[in-house]
Amino acid sequence: MFIDVHVHVFPPDVTQSIKEYTDKDNFLCQICSSPSHKYATVEELLQEMDKSGIDKAAVSGFASSDQGLCRAMNDYVLEAAANYPDRFLPMAVVSPLDPGMEKEINRTSDLGIRGVGELFPWGQNFPLEGREAGKLASFCTEKNLPLLLHVNENVGHSYPGKGDISVREASEFAVRNPELTIIFAHWGGGLPFYELMPELKKQLKNVYYDTAAGPFLYDKSIYRAAREIGILHKILLGTDYPLISPRRYLRELKESGLEPHEINMVMGENAKAIFFDPQEHIITD
Ligand SMILES: [Zn+2]
Repeated sequence: MFIDVHVHVFPPDVTQSIKEYTDKDNFLCQICSSPSHKYATVEELLQEMDKSGIDKAAVSGFASSDQGLCRAMNDYVLEAAANYPDRFLPMAVVSPLDPGMEKEINRTSDLGIRGVGELFPWGQNFPLEGREAGKLASFCTEKNLPLLLHVNENVGHSYPGKGDISVREASEFAVRNPELTIIFAHWGGGLPFYELMPELKKQLKNVYYDTAAGPFLYDKSIYRAAREIGILHKILLGTDYPLISPRRYLRELKESGLEPHEINMVMGENAKAIFFDPQEHIITD
């Protein structure tokens, strides 16, 4: 089973009046003004999934600091999941700085969300060492909801949305929340490489990494590097569709030197354990 854990859709009515929202949210404005930014509807995503052979997608809207917009995004992905229950795992976006965060997690959780994210600690202005991030982590742990967080590398070229959250902040957040399933997006900004340190390997036991935007950032030998580090079971296909098509990832995986069963792990088997065995996969010792 192929599962994409990181895709974004925008409700068409939000896209039509996007200026109304970007005027109020600098980060959203930065992302939406980028020439590489694309908007996808649920129907477009489904078409791409069919072409690429993706069975299921953990589908997010786009997180904003405006809780009202987050709610509209969540309603759209919940509707998609209701219409296509076999294809979508709906993810909720919230604004951790908004006092209504807990209420929105509770509301969407009652309606069947399967995780929270993608959230942007830098773009939504909630530092990972802050009180709001702590509260968010407790709510997700309590409800056993995986949390997908945007992290990016602190070196290299710049691009819209690249923030300054460091691997130190990401790893300390994981240490403070040992029973929370965390998916650090975009190869965790390089955090996977520190799993070569024995204490980090232990501390990051419930941390996963998605491959989102990988083709723009790393050589495809990164997959073999992950195998060598011993963390291939923690690598999840995330495409950041509509930014990049899943087919490009599949092509790179096939050329990466991984064995077919290892490609299947990244393409879906690893994610299956998180989303379909949510109690079983958490390591507590
Ligand atoms: Zn991201």
